[in-house]
Amino acid sequence: MLVMPPTSCKQCDQPLVEIDHWGERLIGCPMCNRWQTSDGEWCRLAPDDIVALRAIRKLDTIRLG
Ligand SMILES: [Zn+2]
Repeated sequence: MLVMPPTSCKQCDQPLVEIDHWGERLIGCPMCNRWQTSDGEWCRLAPDDIVALRAIRKLDTIRLG
């Protein structure tokens, strides 16, 4: 049985975005600054990165770095 990945943030219900952060694929919420790696680890991004990401509200791949 497959478990579908979440498509919206559990905290703020905003759609999650997928980004390429210096070669690492992260999926998370630009509003809460919560990001999950492909390993399942949670991390935060630098504030400068978040400012750019908050302009984007749809599920899309964004390349940083
Ligand atoms: Zn959120």
